[in-house]
Amino acid sequence: MIIDTHAHICDVRFDNDREEVIKKTFNLGVKKIIEVACETNYWDKALKLSKRDNIFVSFGIHPIDVFQATLKNYCKLEILVQSAKCVAVGEFGLDYHYNSSPENIELQKKSLARQFNIAIKYNKPVIIHCRDAYDDMIMFLKEYENVIKGVIHCFSGSLKQAKVFVEMGFLLGIDGPITYKKSKALKQIVCETDISKLLVETDCPYLTPQKYRGQRNEPSYLLEVVKAIASIKNISVNDVAQITTCNAVNLFNI
Ligand SMILES: [Zn+2]
Repeated sequence: MIIDTHAHICDVRFDNDREEVIKKTFNLGVKKIIEVACETNYWDKALKLSKRDNIFVSFGIHPIDVFQATLKNYCKLEILVQSAKCVAVGEFGLDYHYNSSPENIELQKKSLARQFNIAIKYNKPVIIHCRDAYDDMIMFLKEYENVIKGVIHCFSGSLKQAKVFVEMGFLLGIDGPITYKKSKALKQIVCETDISKLLVETDCPYLTPQKYRGQRNEPSYLLEVVKAIASIKNISVNDVAQITTCNAVNLFNI
């Protein structure tokens, strides 16, 4: 059994066949899905989806959307986080890839702190999005050390940064890019990180594994990520499945 700890199946790209995708996922050994609702316009859809068996949800405001986020959105977020199947807050964080103007960075940091405090208040783990901003994220998290658990979703930083996050108690989320030939640095990180610190995720419809590249990613493709980790660490696919599932169960209490 494996768990897709990071999916976006409320995305419009699943509007035509969501039912079939979910059925296929559960038939192919992915037994649970965490739907990550990080765009305010998907929140209600995700809440509804989470009423189904074996689908859980996480609510947050993505760092690239912080300019549009209103006080009302943050109030609603706080309410949604308390819903029955909500297992985390996120994804939220820092993303300097598209806009690293000082105003945007300041706003992102404010939103990061705000959502962190919501997670602390309701005792939920965090799903952290971080792109081109790992050092700032480390600086921020150091203030909260030992207070909160979580995952650095789709980790793409350096080995040194990976070690810092792991030392702080965070898990690293591993996605489709681990199956790409060019992902040498990431493979090195997976090789050197204890498997008890790894989570497997699809981030579907994005980050499709090599085998299906060019297509929309789906939760059922998660096995490709598990296989890649097994081959890098030279352990069995079953062991990777079992241990990463255990990591997910412990972190999200599912
Ligand atoms: Zn995502």
